[in-house]
Amino acid sequence: MKRATPLESDEPPSLDRARQATRASAPPPGAAFRRRHYPGVSLTEWNDWRWQLKNRVTSRDQLERFIELSDDERQVFTGDHLLPLSITPYYLSLVDPTDPTQPLRRSVVPTCHEQLITTGEEDDPLGEEADSPVPGLVHRYPDRVLFLATRACSVYCRYCTRSRIVGHHATGPLRQQWERCLAYVRSHPEVRDVLVSGGDPLTLPDASLEWLLTRLRAIPSVEIIRIGSKVPAVLPQRVTRGLVRLLRRFHPLWLSLHFTHPDELTPEAARACARLADAGIPLGSQTVLLRGINDNVPTMKALVQGLLRMRVRPYYLYQCDPIRGSAHFRTPVQQGLEIIRGLRGHTTGYAVPTFVIDAPAGGGKIPLLPQYCLGKSPQGDQVVLQNYTGAHYYYPDSHPL
Ligand SMILES: *Cc1c(COP(=O)(O)O)cnc(C)c1O
Repeated sequence: MKRATPLESDEPPSLDRARQATRASAPPPGAAFRRRHYPGVSLTEWNDWRWQLKNRVTSRDQLERFIELSDDERQVFTGDHLLPLSITPYYLSLVDPTDPTQPLRRSVVPTCHEQLITTGEEDDPLGEEADSPVPGLVHRYPDRVLFLATRACSVYCRYCTRSRIVGHHATGPLRQQWERCLAYVRSHPEVRDVLVSGGDPLTLPDASLEWLLTRLRAIPSVEIIRIGSKVPAVLPQRVTRGLVRLLRRFHPLWLSLHFTHPDELTPEAARACARLADAGIPLGSQTVLLRGINDNVPTMKALVQGLLRMRVRPYYLYQCDPIRGSAHFRTPVQQGLEIIRGLRGHTTGYAVPTFVIDAPAGGGKIPLLPQYCLGKSPQGDQVVLQNYTGAHYYYPDSHPL
């Protein structure tokens, strides 16, 4: 596959192997896409994340210049669709211009199905507002907090859990909100883990990130900092050497990335992950299970195996949260269990994420596992186990006093 990005001489050797993570069936090649749609734009501009941000596609008129909209896609713009639209030119180059069922296209291009609200759907299905002691911070678990540093993303996922806030303007100056959140963390020494999320924190300028990370690091009780981001998948140009130099000053720092489908594992994404991993930043990936996008074993296996080649450890597989207008994305809970059953034992243990449902009304993440323990033997002295092939095994489990 020929791509626009030239390779750099100081690339780590891991990249060649990571590059094999890229899929074989070709999306529209980046170079051809750029020549066709941005004839006057140089490769340097294309590879500049600020150019990518400035040229995001945010309206129907713009979108129609790149892709042939289906009726379902065109219709959503005539209703009052609430979730904002934004796609970077880079990510758009991976979107199929003619096939509305392509997984990446369905994850970022709105359809009229978003306007169908079904029972049990909420603006804030996880009840985050109720666990928010100060605006922009969620404190649900005993020793860690979620720090919502920005409302902006470079690309808006149609199934976004925080669609109630993303893309909307903050209620006041961001720095003031950050100051209040920092004060909360300072006065709660039980918080040893701060998960900076949003929105996408890596869309912030380096100086803002440095400001925030410096202040978080200065809090003695904060042991680890985590950042949640989809940038390596949707705006890999953002992972500059400067950003990586900045991030590595704040170790122990972890990154939770968001990958949805193997088509996202491009050479550009592989290079971004290689830079981050080479800076000693442990990389995890979170994936939302989505109907018709990644809800089968072969797709998920290709994704998790590709992620391991990029040194990204699959962390969570999420049942899709019941945000408003998400029925077309949601799968039966059983489907997630079947996917885990199709991975565990069949491939590297590191490749198998934990399948979780983030329970409505603030219950938090609850892990679900297929049933491997079938109960006790008739004599009661053994447990009956089922392995990944379905075969039964007996393990001695009698404990006479
Ligand atoms: C997911 C989440 C966390 C982090 O949970 P881990 O299981 O530690 O990754 C923290 N706070 C909130 C509110 C969350 O939703």
